[in-house]
Amino acid sequence: MAPRNEPSFRESVDLMFNRAAALMDLSPGLEEKIRVCNSTYTVRFGVRLRGQIQTFVGYRSVHSEHMEPVKGGIRYSLSVNQDEVEALAALMTYKCALVETPFGGSKGGLCIDPRQYDEHELEQITRRFAYELAKRDLINPSQNVPAPDMGTGEREMAWIADQYARMNTTDINARACVTGKPLNAGGIAGRVEATGRGVQYALREFFRHPGDAKKAGLSGKLDGKRVIIQGLGNVGYHAAKFLSEEDGARITGIIERDGALYDPDGLDVQAVHNWIVKHGGVTGFPDATHQAEGAAVLEHECDILIPAAMEGVINLTNADRIRAPLILEAANGPITAGADEILCEKGTVIIPDLFANAGGVTVSYFEWVKNLSHIRFGRMQRRQEEARHELVVAELERLDRYLGDAWSMSPDFKAKYLRGADELELVRSGLDDTMRTAYQAMSEVWNARDDVADLRTAAYLVSIDRVAKSYRAKGL
Ligand code: GLU
Repeated sequence: MAPRNEPSFRESVDLMFNRAAALMDLSPGLEEKIRVCNSTYTVRFGVRLRGQIQTFVGYRSVHSEHMEPVKGGIRYSLSVNQDEVEALAALMTYKCALVETPFGGSKGGLCIDPRQYDEHELEQITRRFAYELAKRDLINPSQNVPAPDMGTGEREMAWIADQYARMNTTDINARACVTGKPLNAGGIAGRVEATGRGVQYALREFFRHPGDAKKAGLSGKLDGKRVIIQGLGNVGYHAAKFLSEEDGARITGIIERDGALYDPDGLDVQAVHNWIVKHGGVTGFPDATHQAEGAAVLEHECDILIPAAMEGVINLTNADRIRAPLILEAANGPITAGADEILCEKGTVIIPDLFANAGGVTVSYFEWVKNLSHIRFGRMQRRQEEARHELVVAELERLDRYLGDAWSMSPDFKAKYLRGADELELVRSGLDDTMRTAYQAMSEVWNARDDVADLRTAAYLVSIDRVAKSYRAKGL
């Protein structure tokens, strides 16, 4: 949480918005229309649990309906409040515009500690919350489509989808009312890993721009880079796993609720994850140094710092001690507006949340399209693609025989080339393309304009411009 002398999370997002809007030629009326949150619905509902009625407070905030449906996760956490959901809904608007998913921005939250309830209780609470939202079209395939966020996952999304279907028995598109569902309940391959995968693709694209990497004093690729990650939840775990196993990055620090693990030679992410699942925290993990004051590890030396836990963790109290030259915001809003200024002044390069964690909503978009089209991706093309590839391979085999020892096909070429892409490969390809295209749009503005000093401002410029265009197209 940000300290008291800092603006709230929503004010912080507005300040970042204002910084970019000041460089644009928007009419003051349109600027205000884009910035403000359209509506926030608060619901207090009761559920009979353990023999008595317990009252829960939930929110669904809609930031911008320039495109519909509006999109954004539902969070279960004790820190949920109106300011937080409004900040997160605003970030969803800018995020969706930046990665060109055709949605407005929304966010929901339930003020609850999910660890205090068993599965059956959570199902009752979730179904009741979903009922309250669906009844007001705040869950609806064409108007408002939630997804997982902190404290929720596939299980909760399946309950929400089922609750909506029970209430709308003739809606043929009912499954598209929520994304992040399990595969057997209308989900899509690769959604669980999507945000972490997006972080990997974002960093790969960053290092494909040596000029950009140089601004952080970095060069080369991800191989050997020292990474400190905060939060080994769904996003942090997948990001750390992919970066270490596939790109050769060294995860030197992992910060969790109960302290941090540190090993300059690199931690075994899978082993740490397994330990957390079994013991509920990192304490006692045998193969690393444990530091009880976890947040202090944010200040350790490394090449890339990835806050993947929650908002406001880099704030006025620690910003000037952060030593990482590159920070990637895998969480939403981990750097406050004040800290952002301090870091930018120091020359720290920040890959901003609205781009860096957009992998989740990107794959949500694919899932929503899949639900509306009622067919799995690749089902029509896959075998036809394989048949065409077979023709090429047959020709190459003929050439191989003809040329004798002079030339032959590489050993695994045939098997790799023959296999048509399945849904997971298509999802990854679509996600990779999305992250590359969005990065390029941002980087171009960053490099082309002298008045744009950082990637975040560049990202906001691209997003706000797109939102403004769609408002204008509506005649506003
Ligand atoms: N909760 C995720 C986010 O903050 C995903 C939202 C979605 O898939 O709609 O981006």
